[in-house]
Amino acid sequence: MGPPGAGKGTHAGMLAGEVAVPAISTGDIFRAHVAAGSELGRTAQQYVDSGAYVPDEVTNAMVRERLAEEDARSGFLLDGYPRTLDQAAVLDDLLATQGRDLTAVIVLQVDRESLVRRLLRRAEIQGRSDDSEDVIRRRLEVYAEQTLPLITLYGGRGLVHEIDGNGDVEAVRERILQVTYTFTPAT
Ligand code: ADP
Repeated sequence: MGPPGAGKGTHAGMLAGEVAVPAISTGDIFRAHVAAGSELGRTAQQYVDSGAYVPDEVTNAMVRERLAEEDARSGFLLDGYPRTLDQAAVLDDLLATQGRDLTAVIVLQVDRESLVRRLLRRAEIQGRSDDSEDVIRRRLEVYAEQTLPLITLYGGRGLVHEIDGNGDVEAVRERILQVTYTFTPAT
């Protein structure tokens, strides 16, 4: 977990490789559907482009399908999901029916100024439709309103590991790996 620009995608890909599970990014899946022009993509695009969350029922159904795939059977790393209390409840139910549970929640903490700087730079490089200044501000607000409460929820279960996400990618990567080896054996 972490606000937009915190580095979730960068580090999720790295960490998933390290612990040999698939990284599942709801943002990436939505963008792929938008690019492919699928029905789900047409539904998601208006929300993604405005910085709002895609409705929970749409996102939950998509994640349910993804987690049922073969490669997620022995583990998974979720990037950008759950982001609302409703999504967290649906995920709890889903995992309970499968007799499994979350192992850990990694939260990347980054100063607001750095977040905005990183996102504006990414806008220049990648041209993501939701990286304009107005939409970035909206995404940060939505995160604070809808997603921060999940840190309290998971914190109460003793799952949360807060990581300083400031500084360069390599330094953050080292911090994440150190913490990860406290709850999962090195592969
Ligand atoms: P970021 O976290 O940097 O904003 P993402 O690529 O993770 O970037 O998400 C981009 C957009 O995709 C979000 O602003 C939202 O519109 C949509 N999205 C991604 N994950 C979810 C989710 N779990 N629930 C609802 N919408 C989501």
